[in-house]
Amino acid sequence: MARSHTPIHTLGFPRMGANRELKFALESHWRGDSTAAELEAVGADLRARHWALQRDAGLDFVTVGDFAYYDHVANHIQLLGCEPARFGFSGQEPELARYFAMARGVNAGHEHNAHNADCSCGSASTQGQPALEMTKWFDTNYHYLVPEFSAATQFQIASERLFDEVRQAKQAGHAVKAVLLGPLSFLWLGKEKQAGFDRLSLLDSLLPVYESILARLKTAGADWVQIDEPILGLDLPDAWRHAFEPAYWQLARSGAQLLLATYFSPLQENLRLACQLPVAGLHVDAVRAPEELVGVTDWLPAHKVLSVGIVDGRNIWRSDLDAALARLRPVADKHQGPLWLAPSCSLLHVPYSLAQEDRLAPEIKSWLAGAVEKLAELRTLQAALDGQNASVALAASRAACASRRTSPRVHRADVALRLARATADDDRRSSAFTQRQAVQKDRLKLPLLPTTTIGSFPQTSEIRAARAAFKRGTLDAAHYRAQMEAEITLAVRQQEALGLDVLVHGEAERNDMVEYFGEQLDGFAFTANGWVQSYGSRCVKPPIIFGDVARPAAMTVDWTVYAQSLTARPMKGMLTGPVTILQWSFVRDDQPRSTTAHQIAWAIRDEVVDLERAGIAIIQIDEPAIREGLPLRRAGWKPYLDWATRAFRTTASGVRDDTQIHTHMCYAEFNDILPEIAAMDADVITVETSRSGMELLKGFGGQGGADSFNYPNDIGPGVYDIHSPRVPSVEAMVQLVRKAADVVPLERLWVNPDCGLKTRGWAETQTALGNMVQAAQQLRREL
Ligand code: GLN
Ligand code: ZN
Repeated sequence: MARSHTPIHTLGFPRMGANRELKFALESHWRGDSTAAELEAVGADLRARHWALQRDAGLDFVTVGDFAYYDHVANHIQLLGCEPARFGFSGQEPELARYFAMARGVNAGHEHNAHNADCSCGSASTQGQPALEMTKWFDTNYHYLVPEFSAATQFQIASERLFDEVRQAKQAGHAVKAVLLGPLSFLWLGKEKQAGFDRLSLLDSLLPVYESILARLKTAGADWVQIDEPILGLDLPDAWRHAFEPAYWQLARSGAQLLLATYFSPLQENLRLACQLPVAGLHVDAVRAPEELVGVTDWLPAHKVLSVGIVDGRNIWRSDLDAALARLRPVADKHQGPLWLAPSCSLLHVPYSLAQEDRLAPEIKSWLAGAVEKLAELRTLQAALDGQNASVALAASRAACASRRTSPRVHRADVALRLARATADDDRRSSAFTQRQAVQKDRLKLPLLPTTTIGSFPQTSEIRAARAAFKRGTLDAAHYRAQMEAEITLAVRQQEALGLDVLVHGEAERNDMVEYFGEQLDGFAFTANGWVQSYGSRCVKPPIIFGDVARPAAMTVDWTVYAQSLTARPMKGMLTGPVTILQWSFVRDDQPRSTTAHQIAWAIRDEVVDLERAGIAIIQIDEPAIREGLPLRRAGWKPYLDWATRAFRTTASGVRDDTQIHTHMCYAEFNDILPEIAAMDADVITVETSRSGMELLKGFGGQGGADSFNYPNDIGPGVYDIHSPRVPSVEAMVQLVRKAADVVPLERLWVNPDCGLKTRGWAETQTALGNMVQAAQQLRREL
């Protein structure tokens, strides 16, 4: 049965603009080169353009409220008037100034941002305030500013911004759907800043404010309000689940038409709840949870709107529209009420457009879709469901999908064969850790508490200029090589002078730890302009893994061998692990993530073996992103961790016992996955710990409480924070190592910074590392 009209809409649209206009406007404003009014003009122009684009794409509503000058959760904090009291705002400051103060921290000699938010430079207590903490939005690489809650938190409508935007869209003649983060997700995403306080207790005072916001949105002309409650896809405590019904009954009094939006993971035990809340419609993510569509049509009352997120908002592949229609048709037949089509989630997580990527092979380009192209896909699906002729667009989609299914660029027999032939031994070192430890000791002859760094040294403007010139072709290979070798020599001489025990080459030749490898591996493609917002004005351009991954040639061996030739001390080979490469790329959707991870693992394993063969005794395989790959639902953790740790072990297990494998992790607490980290069986792990004053290390020593764990191998807990230019004293680092020694036996401890030093300057790096080496020496003398 053809429907007369199937409305289409989007949950959100990328904010930055086709050419990252917002980024440049923000950075100009932050530098003091443009006024707030000039910035606001750029914002208004982008919104107007993006709304017009949505209308021209045939969307039934434009989405208003997805725009933000930093992050939409930060907007929400201002809308609800709950800016943390610690900023001491008088209320007289302009709204945008307060907003950037929360996002970026306040004046204290150096900028505070997410990566030094709890910098202990001492300024916070005097003139400055650190920014709000920033954390990943669910399992995306988008970061939001974390609301701070305490018993003193109060809510009231404190910003006109959202209502103004709705009015602007109405004035431009658009039908408007406003978007608002739902009250329960908003509270869930925040953090208690008071011991013993439960942020859910704020719900009662929050709801009346939501009621007024909804009423005002209606008055301002919003036909619909999309209210986002993505936490319905999480394992929620009962108190939170049970809070939904009364909360939404209260919001229903506002009279606004609500579309409850869920995304990113299956609703499972919350499916009935989501279907039965007193709202006018429900959006579900049919890409992440296609199996739930039938259940939703069973439970959703017949009069409600069902919005099906059918186009993948998290990945850059062109949709298989035949498959999408096959999935939609039974839903269209069964659901009596209105059916809407949308991307699975906001399009914030994909590039603006990939239509101009003319440097990509045309075949590969034909497989991709950015936000603009995804809107066009919705239009085609709409036409097909409404019984209009969509055959040309459907045929183009069919041809692209067929080419991707069969292309030799994608499928390589040699790669498939290699994975098929892998045996259970391939992901296991030949001997147990204690045995390896003994032969490594013999070979490396390191002192107690060996000192090392995590890999990168300061990336000076000369280094960046040389890399850029080489890429552009204005610096030839010989000169580039000579300049990089000079940088390596400098790094080696510095490390020797500082007295470090295990050296690194400094990573001058790498602009990014994933891109560097992706560019040399088969199966990866790179866009010219495929930017995605990560936080604030910062955008990333993730590599695209489109095909079977293989390593045509060695990637790091020459640089590493050169570096080792300069010194008698051990030089670490430096690689990025398979899970991190996977996690920070757009990944194939035509095979399981685990298969792609294993293909990368075998390619990196070849590099590990080549490094060993070239005489390198220590090889570090960084996996900073292993924790962020955890699925949103607990039930998915074990299967993920099984394949992720197996992929890591596969890269690490091709070497002899006397080759020492290191890994490195940062950006997260790891205590809840310690047994799995131990199962990676690296000989040495270096972890970020200094900012927690070694608290994070407790779990590693079996002292983290009842079910804590005794980590068996060597550990290098970071003894200084590399996110701040502050130089830690010898004494401070001695104290931290002492604290670490309470948890981990000295014989298994290393001394190193929290992470790589590429964002630091040389002067502070030298002083800090000098102090670090002195700290280790002092401790050795005391023993
Ligand atoms: N080896 C990398 C570096 O030092 C590790 C970076 C990271 O962990 N994020 O820069
Ligand atoms: Zn790190």
